[in-house]
Amino acid sequence: MSEFVETQIEFLKGVGPAKAQALQQELGIFTIADLLSHYPFRHEDRSKVLPIVEVMNYPDVFIQLKGRISRGELIGHGPGTRYSAMLTDETGQIELVWFQGAKWIEKYIDNSKEYLIYGKASKFRNQWNIAHPELQVIDSDFQLSKLGLVPVYPLTEGLKRKKIENKLLVKLSKQVVEDPRFKIQDNLPAPILKKYNFPEKKDALRMLHAPKDSQELEQAKQRLKYEELFYLQLRYLQLKGNRNRTYKGIVFDRVGEYFMGYYDKHLPFDLTNAQKRVLKEIRADLKRGLQMNRLLQGDVGSGKTMVAQLSMLMAIDNGYQACLMAPTEILAQQHGAGIAEDLKPLGLQVRLLTGSTPKKQRTTILAELKEGTVDILIGTHALIEDEVVFQSLGLVVIDEQHRFGVAQRARLWKKGNVLPHILVMTATPIPRTLAMTLYGDLDVSVIDELPKGRKPIKTVHRHESNRPLVMEFLKQEINKGRQIYYVFPLIEDSPKLALKSLMSGYEMVSDYLSTPTYTYSLLHGKMKPAEKEAEMEKFKTGKTQIMVATTVIEVGVNVPNASVMVIENTERFGLSQLHQLRGRVGRGAEQSYCILMSGSKLSKAGKTRIKTMVRTTDGFEIAKVDLDLRGPGEMDGTRQSGILDLRLSDIRKDESILIASRADAQSWLQEDELLTSDASKPIRYELSKSPNRTIWSKIS
Ligand code: ADP
Ligand code: MG
Repeated sequence: MSEFVETQIEFLKGVGPAKAQALQQELGIFTIADLLSHYPFRHEDRSKVLPIVEVMNYPDVFIQLKGRISRGELIGHGPGTRYSAMLTDETGQIELVWFQGAKWIEKYIDNSKEYLIYGKASKFRNQWNIAHPELQVIDSDFQLSKLGLVPVYPLTEGLKRKKIENKLLVKLSKQVVEDPRFKIQDNLPAPILKKYNFPEKKDALRMLHAPKDSQELEQAKQRLKYEELFYLQLRYLQLKGNRNRTYKGIVFDRVGEYFMGYYDKHLPFDLTNAQKRVLKEIRADLKRGLQMNRLLQGDVGSGKTMVAQLSMLMAIDNGYQACLMAPTEILAQQHGAGIAEDLKPLGLQVRLLTGSTPKKQRTTILAELKEGTVDILIGTHALIEDEVVFQSLGLVVIDEQHRFGVAQRARLWKKGNVLPHILVMTATPIPRTLAMTLYGDLDVSVIDELPKGRKPIKTVHRHESNRPLVMEFLKQEINKGRQIYYVFPLIEDSPKLALKSLMSGYEMVSDYLSTPTYTYSLLHGKMKPAEKEAEMEKFKTGKTQIMVATTVIEVGVNVPNASVMVIENTERFGLSQLHQLRGRVGRGAEQSYCILMSGSKLSKAGKTRIKTMVRTTDGFEIAKVDLDLRGPGEMDGTRQSGILDLRLSDIRKDESILIASRADAQSWLQEDELLTSDASKPIRYELSKSPNRTIWSKIS
């Protein structure tokens, strides 16, 4: 059966082999169905006409005017010739110019007729004009409302060079959706269409590509957005479902001596209610016989490490090993030392494995892991290498990550003969909608409370002229016994320059603070791990008062006595980075400060970022602003997610559709997990069409 929508594009009226080839190459449009899934990214309202007097309020945007065109004149000779004519309505006049096809235009224009003009007006030598406008005669059966909303399609430069313009796509799509042969199988089940009163797919496509009015367009968009988000969520939930059907989870049903012993005797503080609640959620996961895949969201300083530590004890109580993976060497070292120290009274074997672990030591650790004599392994990405084999890995904690996609997590499953439980802890909170689109296959826990007694960090924005005062303030703080972080931006494409700027930054700071003499730690990415560790250690133990560093200290570092964070060239940092950096202070009982230094010329986004930092310390709120500023495609981790396939939906604006579609996908799968029922036919059809999107294909 060859269906109309399967027709090759070449055979459409107005296309032909050359244009078809261009459309294939540039946009991947082979068939009519492909053409229809090339959605417009906006629509222009061509039902509105501007009076000419108002033109100056709309420079360089497309506008529509109406009027008579006076006989014009050819100006100049040879290649520079242009044709100039005046358009007049009741309110004024504007010049229309053509640099090409002047002769033809001269013949075409009839000064007894009224025209509709479409183009961009710009100012040239103090005169407004429109170059190369589109013209349309307004005759007796012309109706403005018929023009209505005109779709604007994404085009490439290549297409434009080949003279394939928006107009052609508008014409083709319209021609197709209005063709009586046009039919398309729906990809949403009838009950869902009914629930939301959605138009059928066929109608929605017609309403998107050739809307009669804005109401139709809106209706079409709602449905098509829903469809996108529904399938994104359905795929995540299927992934989760498949996992649960295919693999059994290890059952941790004992709360044994390690957990209880530590909890009762060695816990250094009372847990916050949020920490307790999250631990309960984790415990419930661990004993239900399915693999845990949980995302733990918690603001900077909310105490995620302790949750990880206690969860690892649950694994050990049940006879399993646990591992914790950190994004940087410094953080891995900190966890290695901190957790080992904390758990010392329990007599557990904790090891650290990173890229810089000496070979001999590495061999020993690998052997101990296999034998099962190591209880907890802490490290960096080195942990996912194939040679790291555990005897019985029961729990994997991924700390301070939101760059760890589905595919990388999948690699960790293969670390043992059984699937370990997985707990991913975010570096910075991310908005709920982003979490759903990036981590839709995970369950989510949230720590929404900071430990008691924390004073909110005071954040200020300062300029160069304030520098002497800032430095004076630092002295006061150091003299009170506090420690200072001083951070310079990383110049990524040039490590040499970065080092130079850090060194001159260090000189600048030490010049200002020359008397009395203070002690410094210096830390940057190019240092050897052992050097980094030594510098960090000096700061941690209070031997040094000021830590001058690049962003290597960004995540996780915990030195509670440090109470001031100074950031230079703040405008160069992203919001989540700033929030992370600021999170290095405010970890003790003292009042902490964050000083954001910047130049005086700031971009709009730079200003917003700094203002946001000054206004709030709430990571969830900051994450929202970040998402608004950068857009979902620019957020960490999006590269591997389905987020980039979204053509109509914007997770910033379509939160309610996202939430509804996830709930629907969930209940649909609850009813018909394997999608075998008749009602699921449209879903089977859709999934069979595009089985391999990026993230899903990476998992085998
Ligand atoms: P993050 O969530 O950013 O990883 P950490 O786990 O590093 O935060 O915890 C930040 C600091 O708060 C640490 O010094 C930690 O010991 C301390 N802390 C964690 N939980 C509590 C608590 N319930 N009460 C007091 N201090 C806590
Ligand atoms: Mg942490």
